[in-house]
Formats: sequence, C-alpha cells, structure tokens
Amino acid sequence: MIKKLSCILLFLTILLCGCEKKQEVFNDTLTSVRQKDLLTVGVKVDTPPFGFLDKKGNNVGFDIDLAKLIAQKILGDENKIVFVPVNTTNRIMKLSSGEVDLVVATMSITPQRKMILDFSIPYHTAGQAILVRKDSKITTLSDLRDKKVIIVYGSTVEKSLSSSVPNIQIIGYKTYPEAFAALKAGKADAMISDDTILMGFAYNDSSVKILPKRYSKEPYAVVFRKGEESEKLLETVNIELKEALNKGVIRQLKEKWKIN
Ligand code: GLU
Repeated sequence: MIKKLSCILLFLTILLCGCEKKQEVFNDTLTSVRQKDLLTVGVKVDTPPFGFLDKKGNNVGFDIDLAKLIAQKILGDENKIVFVPVNTTNRIMKLSSGEVDLVVATMSITPQRKMILDFSIPYHTAGQAILVRKDSKITTLSDLRDKKVIIVYGSTVEKSLSSSVPNIQIIGYKTYPEAFAALKAGKADAMISDDTILMGFAYNDSSVKILPKRYSKEPYAVVFRKGEESEKLLETVNIELKEALNKGVIRQLKEKWKIN
C-alpha cells in the first residue's frame, strides 16, 4: 500500500513539474502585454523630432505617436503605455534584458542587427548626412580625411565611417544633444548622423548647415527580441504599420513632425 502511494506521489510530482516547465518555456510577449494591460516601450528622449521631452517633461515625437498607435491596436487605448528612455548605446540591452516589450527609437534595420533582433517593416527611410558649421569649407565625405568627426556611439555611422574615410578621427558621444553641442563648440569639423535627426537639431539654427549628399539608406523599424516570443507581437505591429502606411497616417505624422 505504501509502495503504491509513493508511486502515485512520484507520478504526480513528475506531472506537475512537467506542466510548470511548459509554462516557463513559452512566454509570448503579446499575451503578457495583454495580461498586464500595459505596453512598455523604449523610446528616445534625446532625438527630436522622433523622441524627446516637451517643456512639461512629456514624451513626444514621431516615434512616440507611433508607439501610441501600437498600444491602441493591441490594448484599445493609446494611453496604456509606459515609456522607458533609451539611447542609441543602450537600446539593444534594454530590449534584450526584458525591460521593455519593444523599441521605437530611430533604429535602422541592418544585417548585423538582424542576427540578434527582429524588426517590423520599415516606417521611414533616413540617410546619413554631414552637418558642419555655417562657415565650413567641407563639402563631401572625402574632405573629412585627417579631420575630426562627431558621431553618437552605437549608431550605424560609427561602424561605416572608419572604413570609408582614411585617417578620420572619430569623436563619440552618448547622446545627440551632447554631440550637437560639441560640433557647435568647435570640438570637431563635422558631425555625421541620419539627415532627419540632424534636421531636428539644425532646424531654426543658422550657425550650422546640412550638406546635400546622403551616404546611406537607414530604414527605421520597430524592434523586438529575436524569436518565437515576439512572433505574434511583430505580426500585430506589422498589420498596424501597413494600415497606417496605406491610410496616410504615417504621412500625416511626418507632416506633423516636419520629417521629409
Ligand atoms: N538610424 C541610425 C541607427 O539606427 C542612427 C540613429 C540613432 O542613433 O538612433 O543607428
């Protein structure tokens, strides 16, 4: 009898452990967002007009409006959202650690990033451009040979620049306002970043100019942790983005934030 009882107990323990394990293994992000009834999004606070803070300290910008559209689609309320500040350097870490459910932060799709992250369809395409002080003689990328150039750490240009211009001296900053202030203060000859980001800083500032040539294509997308856990969320975001692109909502948002 005792033997029989312990066999039953052992069987039940194995069964329960098995169930627990199954629940642990599959943790789908869309389902957990719906359970929490809250979407946690990594956004920029240093990159106008995509993600920045208004005078009252509210998160505003194109990427913020896009994140609200996603919250509306998933939870039926654009306010069921928590914004977590990320920058170019830490956004992948904040996503991978689970601190945020997704990232909407001027992030370009690249083959290297696709190895460790999943991306939505693109919602905007920027291009790298050169920003210089108004009186600068620099006109092209090759003029930057032996010169000092400002970039933001972790951005696509950090990788491409050293291989495209010989002897270029790269000066990195963690945030866009710091980088822009350094250019204005004369700490380098130029700053390189996405045209739409540079425009956000150069807008209404006659002390700097953006040179006309573009040196890359930067397709911005919503970013997810790689793998099965993000599949349903990614699919839902893509449906929303396609709809927003087709119905002209994205175009209207670009007009609102003066993005070309
Ligand atoms: N789009 C570029 C990137 O993903 C630069 C913008 C940014 O720093 O967020 O690296």
